Amino acid sequence: MPITGGCLCKSVRYRIDAPPIVARACWCRLCQYLGAGSATVNVAFPTAAITIEGELRDYQSVADSGNRMHRRFCSTCGTPMFSEAEARPHVIFVRAGTLDDPEIAQPAMTIWTAQAPSWACFDASLPQVEGQPPPAG
Ligand SMILES: [Zn+2]
Ligand SMILES: [Zn+2]
Repeated sequence: MPITGGCLCKSVRYRIDAPPIVARACWCRLCQYLGAGSATVNVAFPTAAITIEGELRDYQSVADSGNRMHRRFCSTCGTPMFSEAEARPHVIFVRAGTLDDPEIAQPAMTIWTAQAPSWACFDASLPQVEGQPPPAG
């Protein structure tokens, strides 16, 4: 059963033929920009399992870890869709809001809590990591 999703305007669509590796809620400062002030929820999949159709733009930046990151978004509606680290090209992170069924993105962990604002709400039932967690997959 493939996992499917896409952007708000539907000009980008994807399918993934593998189960998620892990989902995490991220409160890093950069994710607060992408998430309109809140955390982002990101679901890791094997890059080889995803097929993407539609036009994306790619914003590159260097993370605190020194990794060059690619953050891709729909060129029409701007929906943040994917992120990848050049050092770990076998894993792609999918923004959970783009999944046709967001229920599959149940986070297992909250990360970068040290960068969250004082009013942030964390799920008390999940483990919290103050900064960068161990790599996914
Ligand atoms: Zn779009
Ligand atoms: Zn983040």
